[in-house]
Amino acid sequence: MDFKNSRVPTLYTDLARTLGGEIDTSYHALEKNSRDFSSCKILPHIITYPKTVEDIKKIIACADEYKIPVAVKGNGNNASGASLVEGIVIDMTKYFNRIKHVDMLGNIINVDPGVSCKKIREHLSGWNLEIPFLTEQNDNDTIGGVVATKNVSPSSFEHGGINSWVIGLSIVLSNGEQHIIEDGITPSGKLLSIYQSLFPLLSTETHIIRGGKPTCSEDNSGFNIWGQSIGPRQLINNIIGSQGTLAIITSIKLRTIPRPLFKKTIRIRIPEYQNLPDCILACKVNGVDNLFMYDVLLENLSSTFGGQDKEIYSSSTPHVLTLVATQSGNDEKALHEKQLRLVKELNLPSESITCMRGDNYLHNFTEPSHVKKLLESYSGQTVIPCITGDGIIVPIENLPETLLAIEKYHNENHLIFNTTGNVGSGHISVITFIPNDINTFADKVINATEACFSIAKKYKGSGSAGSGDGLIGTAFLPLFYSPKIIEIFSKVKNIWDPNNILNTNKKIGVDVSYIKQRILPPDASC
Ligand SMILES: Cc1cc2nc3c(=O)[nH]c(=O)nc-3n(C[C@H](O)[C@H](O)[C@H](O)COP(=O)(O)OP(=O)(O)OC[C@H]3O[C@@H](n4cnc5c(N)ncnc54)[C@H](O)[C@@H]3O)c2cc1C
Repeated sequence: MDFKNSRVPTLYTDLARTLGGEIDTSYHALEKNSRDFSSCKILPHIITYPKTVEDIKKIIACADEYKIPVAVKGNGNNASGASLVEGIVIDMTKYFNRIKHVDMLGNIINVDPGVSCKKIREHLSGWNLEIPFLTEQNDNDTIGGVVATKNVSPSSFEHGGINSWVIGLSIVLSNGEQHIIEDGITPSGKLLSIYQSLFPLLSTETHIIRGGKPTCSEDNSGFNIWGQSIGPRQLINNIIGSQGTLAIITSIKLRTIPRPLFKKTIRIRIPEYQNLPDCILACKVNGVDNLFMYDVLLENLSSTFGGQDKEIYSSSTPHVLTLVATQSGNDEKALHEKQLRLVKELNLPSESITCMRGDNYLHNFTEPSHVKKLLESYSGQTVIPCITGDGIIVPIENLPETLLAIEKYHNENHLIFNTTGNVGSGHISVITFIPNDINTFADKVINATEACFSIAKKYKGSGSAGSGDGLIGTAFLPLFYSPKIIEIFSKVKNIWDPNNILNTNKKIGVDVSYIKQRILPPDASC
């Protein structure tokens, strides 16, 4: 790169000269990285594309020296502003995008964090292996983004969170040290001192932590202080879901299992919200692997704008929601019988249930960029689909009241909305269509978000599943957690990142007025 006559600040030209990878400070690159799927807009200073772990260490050293926040970016699909930063962006997708090794016998895959989940799924499928947590929903996410956000997936309710599939991580700490965290490897250096500081903190505060624990295990508020694990597992659990605020993940080792030979999917039309818990229970006891919910609005949009698969969306059966349930197995006949048992136990009129063909059905309702395009095609630019409750998670028995309350809020405020969710885990994602008026946009996004989170609280849930805290959820943490718990989150952050350079302002340190200033309609500039 020729820096002569360049308008790039000297600090960054100096950094670029030391890197094997590249930097970009062009207007186009900064604009592109100023948005994710949230309504926030934050212009970064510079985009870096590290080629090696040594490059990452140099970027962190630079950030630390000049006290500039640094955030990792995967594919930017997060819906809570988690990768937006007024500082340095580390884009992992350009060079950290390899599948490094598949160990067939050990059932292990070792990958770079910037590799897409689709690539992992396709690669494993060639070996007749899979990580059931990863579904079509994650195809456009990076595995680093999924691990760093502790995603909730349609398979979470049967196969657990991504944390149960991660067996080891390589990370770079805020002081530039590189470490491998895995069972059997004793922490050393700064990682050891982190462990030695965390353990007494969490033991001393154990009563407060137990009292403040969220009711739903897939919630991802703050740092994972709730688990009782010790040793390397405790450190891994801290990093998973920390959204790049504690360390930068440079390599991920995951567990795989043999891929089942057969999969069968049914579509279930739910007549009333009240039917939802019983239907989820029937799915659970009949071994459903993947369960996803979408509403009538998304279905109508898919039918109008969804392309060639139109006929699969249509239905004359009255319903408020649809569930998509996939079962799997190696014996086709036994799987068929399992499906018949499920259909029987759902106890719904036969016309409410349809057997689906093909594997790609879920993609049409879950993959973020596809869903975004659908919603935008509906609204044009007069109203903007804004994620106002991506992380809502409530006990399953409270789903009907929660959905009714969300509907009531939107009807009373004359707002169109859409709900989807990994309801097997109690997760709901809410999108509100907000008028595209720069004078009222931020207020309306905040009001709808606050309403959705308050409903989650009322029904004994929380607000940080799905996209995690990011920026938006962090501002609302005081709604769900006592000042003492929030103080423990701050102490955990301080132990890992004492200079507060790693993804600053996520998980701790922002309030509603901070995010309100950064919520802007799509065509507005910072
Ligand atoms: C319409 C829609 C639906 C969604 N549905 C769901 C859902 O059902 N369940 C769910 O869980 N999520 C959902 N999401 C959120 C999104 O899919 C996740 O946040 C996903 O993890 C993003 O992946 P990404 O590669 O785009 O990560 P990014 O958005 O780029 O990053 C996400 C976070 O991870 C951090 N990060 C990324 N890579 C690293 C790394 N190597 N080291 C440290 N930190 C890192 C980033 O700093 C950031 O904080 C949805 C989003 C949208 C827009």
